[in-house]
Amino acid sequence: MKSAIHPAYRRCLVTCACGNTFETRAVKPAILVEICSNCHPFYTGQQRAASTAGRIERFKRKYNLQ
Ligand SMILES: [Zn+2]
Repeated sequence: MKSAIHPAYRRCLVTCACGNTFETRAVKPAILVEICSNCHPFYTGQQRAASTAGRIERFKRKYNLQ
């Protein structure tokens, strides 16, 4: 490896939008992410589907359909 041409590979704090933080190693001192293994449904096993409950009812009420 040539010296002085490689960026420093140091400890890096990753901060997720869910509030979770963990440490890894990277050339940047900090990384912001929107999804991590703490909040992604694949890892949590929980589905967070968009709320569709009541949509049809609200639509009908809005246009006075019965
Ligand atoms: Zn997260």
